[in-house]
Amino acid sequence: MRIARFVAQGDPTFGVVELAEDQGPFPETVAVLSGDPLAGPVKYTGERLALADVRLVAPVIPRSKVVGIGRNYVEHAAEQQAEVPSEPLVFFKPNTSVIGPGEPIVYPPETANLHYEGELAVVIGRICRRVPVEMAAEVIFGYTVANDVTARDLQSADGQWARAKGFDSFCPLGPWIATHIDLAEAGKLDIVTTVNGEVRQSGNTEDMVHSIATLIAHVSAFTTLLPGDVILTGTPAGIGPMNVGDKVSVTISGIGTLTNPILAED
Ligand code: MG
Repeated sequence: MRIARFVAQGDPTFGVVELAEDQGPFPETVAVLSGDPLAGPVKYTGERLALADVRLVAPVIPRSKVVGIGRNYVEHAAEQQAEVPSEPLVFFKPNTSVIGPGEPIVYPPETANLHYEGELAVVIGRICRRVPVEMAAEVIFGYTVANDVTARDLQSADGQWARAKGFDSFCPLGPWIATHIDLAEAGKLDIVTTVNGEVRQSGNTEDMVHSIATLIAHVSAFTTLLPGDVILTGTPAGIGPMNVGDKVSVTISGIGTLTNPILAED
C-alpha cells in the first residue's frame, strides 16, 4: 500500500492512497487512518477523501535522523572525480531539512551552485541496532522518493557536508511511502530526475555499489535506527544545477513522483 501524510483540514493525518491503476476508472482517493502507522497500530476511520482534495505533506518527519550515503553509484562517483568508497560513505541531514511534495526548495544566499540528487529513500519501521544483512528487510517500513539537495560549492569548501546538505528544505520526501515493495524489487527500480520536464538523471537502483541491506547493516552498526528514520541510498549520475523558478521532479518506478519548485529566500 501507499501511505501518505496529508492535510485536509486541521492537523496532518495519515491515509492509504488508492490510485486509478489500482481500482480502474474511479476517482483517486485517500482512505483515512487513525494515528501514525510508524508509531503503532492504526485503523481505517471509514472516511475516504478525493486525492485531489487533500494537500500531501512529507510522508514522514524522521524523529531522529536522515542518514545520507555518498557516492553509491559508480558513474556518479566518476563524474565527481572521486573514488567509489570501499565502505559506505555516511553523512547526516537534520530532520528540519525535510519538506513534502510541492513545497518549495529554498535557494539560500550562501550558495551559487544548488544541485538536485534524485534518490531512493528507505523508511525504517522499527528500533534496531547491528542489523545483520540477512535481517535488513525486517526493519524496513517502506520506500519513498527523495531529493538530496546539495549546495555543491559549500560541499567542497566546507569539507564536512552538514551545511551543504543540511539547509532547511534540502530534503524533499514523498509523495508517499510504498510499503508493498520488497527488498529485491527495491533493488531494481528506475530513478529519473527532470528539471522543468527535461531529463537530467536516468538510473536504476540495481547500479548501487552497496545494496540497501548492506547500507542498513553498516549504518545500524554504529547508530540505533528508530522508526521513521530515513536512509537516502545515493544518487545516480547526472547531477546538476537547479535555479530559482525551476521545477524539479524525481520519479521512481513503482513509487511515484516527487516534485518541488525552487524559490529564492526572501
Ligand atoms: Mg546524495
